[in-house]
Amino acid sequence: MTDVLVSTPLDEARLAFRDELLESGMLVATSVPGIYGRSGDFERIVTGLDTLLGESFASLGATVLRFPPVYPRADFERTDYIASFPDLSGIVSSFEDGDREHRELLAAREDGHAWDGWLKPADVVLTNAICHPLYATLEGTLPEGGSVHDLSGYGFRHEPSNDPMRLQSFRMREFVFAGTPDAAQLYRDTWLDTSVAVLASLGLAVDAVPANDPFFGRAGKMLVSAQLRENLKVEIIVPLYGDLHEGTAIASANCQRDHLTAAFDIRTTDGEIAHGACIAFGMERTALALLRTHGMRLDAWPVDVRALLGL
Ligand code: AMP
Ligand code: ZN
Repeated sequence: MTDVLVSTPLDEARLAFRDELLESGMLVATSVPGIYGRSGDFERIVTGLDTLLGESFASLGATVLRFPPVYPRADFERTDYIASFPDLSGIVSSFEDGDREHRELLAAREDGHAWDGWLKPADVVLTNAICHPLYATLEGTLPEGGSVHDLSGYGFRHEPSNDPMRLQSFRMREFVFAGTPDAAQLYRDTWLDTSVAVLASLGLAVDAVPANDPFFGRAGKMLVSAQLRENLKVEIIVPLYGDLHEGTAIASANCQRDHLTAAFDIRTTDGEIAHGACIAFGMERTALALLRTHGMRLDAWPVDVRALLGL
């Protein structure tokens, strides 16, 4: 069997951008696609963006909460993520047996054989969407008027790619509302507009478009069409490669309806199941879109953009 490598102009444009990022030292490649080290300048952009987002959403009065990049497997189970996105999931495994099994593992390793069969799934999984650990903590009745949280952290999605915008491990900043269905819808729509304005103020040619999640398999096709039909997901996209591609999502505004709130039995004061909505910013993607738009030298960026980001 021969491998057929089809390289489209878009693939080549992505690789050229990746080369530019690596040559300038903004990113440092590892042996795995989608996992990079990041330079000090790259982190300055992310820090500036993080501060700007905090200021732009300050009037929400959100409760700040931070979780580590792993969360309980039992909660992951309740989100149903493994049903919709088995290909993106990441489970932590560890060794739980004794000396005899360890010797077997070492012998297999010594012989150049796979040794991960001696590991067992641990009680934590990698967080895929940083609002999931939050929902797991909201079980019960929400305060009057609902709750708003400000989250930040790493998400893992197993989608190895040479596209520098598609990482396997990346940071998100999310502002998450849970409350009545009407309030959740209003929250999504209002803060989507704010998000578009903030990103546009950074000189990004943003557009807000209806979108869908990459649900897996045949059953997933129905979820995709429902999501589009009911306008549950809007993505803020930025064109990076001229006419070759309509644009890459740097943020999303999501109506989660009762998907997670029902799973975790989260209710409003009237006793009904609450609805959730979140605005999620991809930190690396936004930094990369800024680099693509304004260039690799931060001191040559437009003065107003540098001022907004404290650069
Ligand atoms: P989502 O929950 O899929 O809407 O993702 C929220 C945001 O995270 C997206 O708008 C992107 O900016 C970012 N994001 C999602 N997947 C990736 C990825 N594979 N690599 C980098 N950023 C991502
Ligand atoms: Zn979310």
